[in-house]
Formats: sequence, structure tokens, C-alpha cells
Amino acid sequence: MGRSWGFLVGLLGAAWLLRSGDGGQQGPETAAQRCFCQVSGYLDDCTCDVETIDRFNNYRLFPRLQKLLESDYFRYYKVNLKRPCPFWNDINQCGRRDCAVKPCHSDEVPDGIKSASYKYSEEANLIEECEQAERLGAVDESLSEETQKAVLQWTKHDDSSDSFCEVDDIQSPDAEYVDLLLNPERYTGYKGPDAWKIWNVIYEENCFKPQTIKRPLTPLASGQGKSEENTFYSWLEGLCVEKRAFYRLISGLHASINVHLSARYLLKETWLEKKWGHNVTEFQQRFDGILTEGEGPRRLKNLYFLYLIELRALSKVLPFFERPDFQLFTGNKVQDAENKMLLLEILHDIKSFPLHFDENSFFAGDKKEAHKLKEDFRLHFRNISRIMDCVGCFKCRLWGKLQTQGLGTALKILFSEKLIANMPESGPSYEFYLTRQEIVSLFNAFGRISTSVRELENFRNLLQNIH
Ligand code: FAD
Repeated sequence: MGRSWGFLVGLLGAAWLLRSGDGGQQGPETAAQRCFCQVSGYLDDCTCDVETIDRFNNYRLFPRLQKLLESDYFRYYKVNLKRPCPFWNDINQCGRRDCAVKPCHSDEVPDGIKSASYKYSEEANLIEECEQAERLGAVDESLSEETQKAVLQWTKHDDSSDSFCEVDDIQSPDAEYVDLLLNPERYTGYKGPDAWKIWNVIYEENCFKPQTIKRPLTPLASGQGKSEENTFYSWLEGLCVEKRAFYRLISGLHASINVHLSARYLLKETWLEKKWGHNVTEFQQRFDGILTEGEGPRRLKNLYFLYLIELRALSKVLPFFERPDFQLFTGNKVQDAENKMLLLEILHDIKSFPLHFDENSFFAGDKKEAHKLKEDFRLHFRNISRIMDCVGCFKCRLWGKLQTQGLGTALKILFSEKLIANMPESGPSYEFYLTRQEIVSLFNAFGRISTSVRELENFRNLLQNIH
């Protein structure tokens, strides 16, 4: 009798535990559920689910990627933060201390990286080209015949037809190296109408959206309500998959930036020190399902979509980095070799991810129409990269430029005819080429999205006991 009573109590206890562990359906909803309950399961237009990404990213990829990004090759990024805004004149430089960017002194940057900033000229002869290619770090000291051919090929290509970004002229005297580790992306206080204007122009003029369709909760528009939201989402669902993806990529990038500023928020400032950390209220205001009328969780899903796109690009570009003559050249032979090994390990791991995004569904169908659509997609994205020169906070501009260039590089990889024509069976191709600038931005941009996914787990835990 005693034993069966104990068994019954145990059974009831287990049932209770199961119920209280099933997402807390019985009690009041937690803050974590309001932000994350819709951020689970399958992602639209993909065969992948959020949980698989969380596991893969947070425990396998994230720690090693962070290690790679701390290396000299990836921490120094050359950027021109003084380019004028091509769209309007009245840029308000916010002047906040947390918006300042400290460029490197020339002796801080390894010589190997500095000499790599050479730009090929059509006229230079082959010998000169090869010497410079050596310094570029894309090719080994002993140039094979194949490499010499490749150098010639590069000079023939006008890469702009492949590129999704307007890149800085890094030869300009205004371009400077920035140590990304010393200038981290975090809360800067850049907000209000100036910041809204940038986001507004991006969504209103560059995401294929007609003016008559209103985005939900846009701070610069007046008199909005639920009906606009419905119109917006039925418009979005009615779009072709490529245009829908475009909006979701931008929204994912926006969400990622806002996750970072909530995770590295200025919590306390004394004359001695500043304390940065998680601000759960800031996070909730941006992503809580009730506070944002359902928008926040949708935006977090877009962040996962962006993650999948960049992940797929990295898996596809593996043969380019596997070329025996490719180096992460900084001038320190031992470290460069170790970093290349780590980079390849990471890329092989990424390649093994079981649920990659299938980019073949993009720009398929009628060839002429697909070509036109791809061109539109490319030009819209290039425009967004130019808008980054209008951001009125240097720190936000730095990371905005880096992340758009990184995403642009991912798109170049996914849709480059040169890469498609040569992979994977025919082995690495010398027709496809990435500059150091593109490589640094690609990995750092992915590092940012990977950090966001990791931070979502931190916020989920922090919000668990808040109602
Ligand atoms: P915002 O984020 O400014 O959004 C404006 C409107 O867009 C919202 O009201 C909403 O209607 C809509 N919206 C918001 N998120 C999404 C989304 N994910 N998808 C679709 N629509 C959305 N601040 C920092 O502190 N540090 C930074 O490093 C930083 N980098 C920035 C980089 C760029 C390129 C820009 C333009 C801004 C950056 N900011 C940064 C500012 C930051 O992104 C916000 O603009 C600012 O914090 C104000 O936030 P907000 O809540 O008013 O809404």
C-alpha cells in the first residue's frame, strides 16, 4: 500500500513538473514567452528551424568564430568614414562621445596588412602584378603558372558587375584602419528622428515597397493602425520570394543591430569607469510581442533568416579559401598558417550544417526576367550601402558599413556567375575573387549575427522569471 501511494504521489509530481515545464501555460505569461514564443519552429521560405540554428551556433560555431575574429587579419578594417552622404546635406553629426571611432596609428597595423592595400591597375605588367599579388596575401611567394594566369584574369575583370555594394576606395587618403576590437558595436545613444530617417529611407525607398503601403508602427508616419499592418503583410506575402527576402534581410540586420545595443548597453557611468551590459527593458521595448503589437518576434525571425543566408554563403565559398596559395597574410607566417587552419575548420563545420538555405530558388524561371530581377536586387542593395555614409554617428556608421559590406559579399558569393560556373566539381576557380576588405567584412558581419543569436539565449534566460 505504502509503495503504491508513493508511486501515485511521484506520478502526480512528475505530471506537475511536466506541466510547469511546458512553457508555463498555466501561470501568467513570462516576458521571455512574449518575446520568444513565436520565435521557434520553421522559418518562412526555408527548411530550417530556429532551434537547430541555436544549437549549432551557440555551442559549436560562436566560440571559434570569436577566436578567429580576434586575430590581426580580421581585427583591422580599412574604412573611409569621411565620405560625404550622396543623398542629403544636412547630416547632424551627433557629437556623442560613444559615437567616436578611434582609428589606428600607422605603426599599430602589421606591415603585412598595410602592404596588402594595393589595387591592381590594368596597365601594370605581369611581374609587377605578381609581386603585388604576393603582398596581397592571396597568393604564395612561389607563384605558379596558374597563379600568374589568375593575376592576369583579375586585371581583366571589372568586378563591379558582380558586386552588391558600393565599396570605399581604400586608396583614398581619408581611408583609415580601425581596430574593431577597440571600437566595439554597442549602445551609442544615436536615436530619434536622425536614426529613423536612415531606417525610413532604407525601407521606404529601397525595399521595393510602394508608397501607398504603410509599414506598421513607423515613427515618421502618422495615423497608423492595425489595418495598415494587415495591408503591409499581405503586400509582403504577395511579393516574389526574392523581394520578400530582401525586406527580411534588411529587417534582420536592423534587429541584429538593436539586439547588440540592448546587450551592450551603458548601464552605469562614473568618472572612473563605464559599465556595459544587458538592458532587458530596452530589449523588451523592441522585441516584446505585446509592446510591439507582434512586430518584435517577427523581426527576430528575420534575424535568423539573415543568419541562414550568410551561413550558406560561407559554406559555398569554402573552395576559394581552400586554395593552397590563399593566405590570411599579415606577415607572421606561423600565426597566418594557424589562422588559416582555424578558418578552414570553421568553414568545414559550416558546410556540414544539415539544413542550409537553398539559394537556387532565387532568380530562377524565365532567364530575362530573372536577370532583370537580380539586377534590381543588386542596385537596391548598393543604394543601401551608400546610405550608410549618411549615418550621423561614426561608430554606427562604421558597423553599418561593415555589416552591409559583409552581407553584400555574402550575396555576391551566393549569386556570382563566376562562382556558380566553377563549383563544386571543377574545383577552386581563379575567376572568382574576394578582396581582403570583403573577407574581413564577410566574417565580421557573420560574427555579429552569430553574436546576436547567442545574445538571444542570454536574453531568454534573463527574461525567464520576469512577468
Ligand atoms: P528604430 O530601431 O530606429 O526603428 C525605427 C522604426 O523602424 C521602428 O519604430 C519600427 O517601426 C521599425 N523597425 C524597428 N526594428 C525593425 C526591424 N527589425 N524590422 C523592420 N522594422 C523595424 N544605435 C546604437 O546604440 N548603436 C549602434 O551601433 C547603432 N547602429 C546603427 C546603425 C545604423 C545603420 C542605423 C541607421 C542606426 C543605428 N543605431 C545604433 C540606432 C538604432 O538602430 C535605433 O535607430 C535607435 O536605437 C532608435 O531606436 P527606436 O526604438 O526608436 O527604433
